[in-house]
Amino acid sequence: MITASEIKLPRLVTALPGPNAKRVVEADTKLMSPSYTRDYPLVAKRGHGAIVEDVDGNSFLDFAAGIAVCSTGHCHPQVVAAIQKQAAELIHMSGTDFYYESMPQLAEKLIATMPGAAPKKAFFTNSGAEAIEGAIKLARYATKRTKFIAFYGCFHGRTMGALSLTASKATQRKGFGDLLAGVEHIPFPYAYRCPHGHTAETCGAEILEVLEQQLFKRMFDPEEVAGIIIEPIQGEGGYIVAPSFFLQELQRICRQHGIMLIADEVQSGMGRTGKWWAHQHAGIEPDIICSAKGIASGMPLGAFFAPAKIMNWKPGAHGTTFGGNPVCIASGLATAELIETQYLENARVMGDFLFARLADWTKKYKIVGDVRGRGLMIGIEIVRDRRTKEKAADLRNLIVDLAFQKGVCILGAGENTIRLSPPLLIDEEQADFAVRTLEECIVEAEKKI
Ligand code: PLP
Repeated sequence: MITASEIKLPRLVTALPGPNAKRVVEADTKLMSPSYTRDYPLVAKRGHGAIVEDVDGNSFLDFAAGIAVCSTGHCHPQVVAAIQKQAAELIHMSGTDFYYESMPQLAEKLIATMPGAAPKKAFFTNSGAEAIEGAIKLARYATKRTKFIAFYGCFHGRTMGALSLTASKATQRKGFGDLLAGVEHIPFPYAYRCPHGHTAETCGAEILEVLEQQLFKRMFDPEEVAGIIIEPIQGEGGYIVAPSFFLQELQRICRQHGIMLIADEVQSGMGRTGKWWAHQHAGIEPDIICSAKGIASGMPLGAFFAPAKIMNWKPGAHGTTFGGNPVCIASGLATAELIETQYLENARVMGDFLFARLADWTKKYKIVGDVRGRGLMIGIEIVRDRRTKEKAADLRNLIVDLAFQKGVCILGAGENTIRLSPPLLIDEEQADFAVRTLEECIVEAEKKI
């Protein structure tokens, strides 16, 4: 029998879902919280590289990577070895109360990838939302201010503080009552739907004007604002790239008023865009950088980073029992090493390869409105009609489902966008297969209009 570690492309051996998958889905439906959002019945059993095998022996090409998490692929041998070695040596100690060598080692390695000469410090968390919670607290602590500005469409997590900044889908907030006071949202620069007709380079000038001329003058005195938080590339909201000038101007505004610029790199960081951090494409230096997802190839780890003069809170001001657990840190060190030596470059090269293949899709397919992103963070926006740009969530969902039926796992993002967020180790053969499969799905979906 061919095992997952020996194959590189999908191999389907049952109708989907297979009998074992059906059984698991049934048990899950009976026992698990209905708040999970499963698009299709993939029941994973094991993974290797960019391949996931399900409980019926079907193998899928994974272009979702566990929501952009398995940066080095599934179960990379070096990551697995690091986890196993660490698990046999020391599983837990709590970095809040005790020391262990690997914590500052990973902090040093990641800080070295960040722009700016000022010495930085790190705090390790268990998740992306916790990294955002920490950033909210640090920004308040450092500025002695309380208010925040965030962007429509952005997703920062589901804990109450992070949820206050999240403005992605109303269902994520509905029913949970009052959130943090003192948070205002402004539009995210969305070039494909820019109301002022700007390009991907210039969209957003009017938003900055609203911020400075309206919000700062009528709502929040900038001296009360602790932080402005932005995803340099909006993830859950639809893989939308913020123009470089926009990020640079935000930095200028933040510096002018002593506001912390917080980059949420939970989805866009750790090499996914072909640079370590997506904000580096714009040449900015955020005050606080949040990371998670790809940081430890699937082990639960997050982090936030800031210059030492900002992260200078008192002992006890912030802490965590599990955050930065030695096993997660070991996985993070192996992940960082692999990204540094191989996958950062591969994300860039494979990103270029994919974008070249997708370049003419907005001409070739009537339902492809926009193709955008950087590196291996690619969004394909599906519309009913390219002229009216009417959003076609149903067609997007159909394409996601058809791709699964053909053995390629993808996820949606935003209302009507397909996201491609494969592990950073994919090769040309896999990228080519995913593109050809997606084309087949798009052609089938087009027949429905
Ligand atoms: N920030 C961004 C940009 C995200 O994409 C996510 C998760 O999708 C989060 C924060 C929250 O991370 P987590 O789900 O690990 O709490």
